[in-house]
Amino acid sequence: MSRQQPVMLEPVFQEKIWGGERLKAVFGYGIPSSRTGECWAISGHPGGDCRVRNPAFAGETLGSLWQKRPELFGHTGGDAFPLLVKILDAREDLSIQVHPGDSYAQAHENGAHGKAECWYILDCDEGASIIIGHHAASREEMRELVGQGRWKELLREVPIKKGDFFQIDPGCLHAIKGGTLLLETQQSSDVTYRFYDYGRLENGRPRPLHIEQSLAVTQAPFHPCEPEQETVRQGDAVVTRLIACPCYTVYHVSLDGRWERDWDKPFVNISITGGQGALDGVPVRAGDHLLLPAGYGPAVLEGRLELVCSHL
Ligand code: ZN
Repeated sequence: MSRQQPVMLEPVFQEKIWGGERLKAVFGYGIPSSRTGECWAISGHPGGDCRVRNPAFAGETLGSLWQKRPELFGHTGGDAFPLLVKILDAREDLSIQVHPGDSYAQAHENGAHGKAECWYILDCDEGASIIIGHHAASREEMRELVGQGRWKELLREVPIKKGDFFQIDPGCLHAIKGGTLLLETQQSSDVTYRFYDYGRLENGRPRPLHIEQSLAVTQAPFHPCEPEQETVRQGDAVVTRLIACPCYTVYHVSLDGRWERDWDKPFVNISITGGQGALDGVPVRAGDHLLLPAGYGPAVLEGRLELVCSHL
């Protein structure tokens, strides 16, 4: 039996009022407009299901492959591909939002899953920042500050730089601010409560807000999540485990030379975020996204590459 191939994926782009043109400038993607906010890079989600580029899987998407070829994913089970990897280009601020945990989502959102997500900052403007958490001591104080429109006092804004990493657990208020390019790894779920949108209009109307749901699910007081990171040298690669949480484990890899690793996982997501090289002899470069299927065995990457990898 011949060896499984890496599953090469075609990104899906999403236009957003806050998006820009950096996805084209940085990765050379053919974006639909100058307001392109999201590249769904590894997705089996119906909102943007990635087409598979391998001729052997012609006509398939990651979502359909998950249904038809469970052995490629180590028979993980579950009705949909469980993770979603995106690259976001925020030219302007995104709305402040929060995601519920599993139990709230199951009770109030037709049995949907909650959502944890994490951000690896690929690049950002000088002085860029994000919103993560809040300063209220209790839910009552939060409600009071919201009622009085004292958003600046409420929201916790932190400066960011290239290479920073943030874990956003369910119940954590968050927003990406303008001037940020980041890679997001998340549970494949879309239950989002919009808490504040800076009073902006889209097609002449404010986008809907979900203040009550947001107040109900937001953790108060806020406790920052500071994942314990671990960096090791493997071959010519510097491998940093950014987070290991119940939903996913995410790594950043910086390679200059050759790196061999047998992941031994049901599947591994790999996003090439910088440089160029080869994966087992197949050329790869910045902007490529692929998945190593179950039983792939040792994977050899060569070249000068930056990657973000994840698995369950
Ligand atoms: Zn979010």
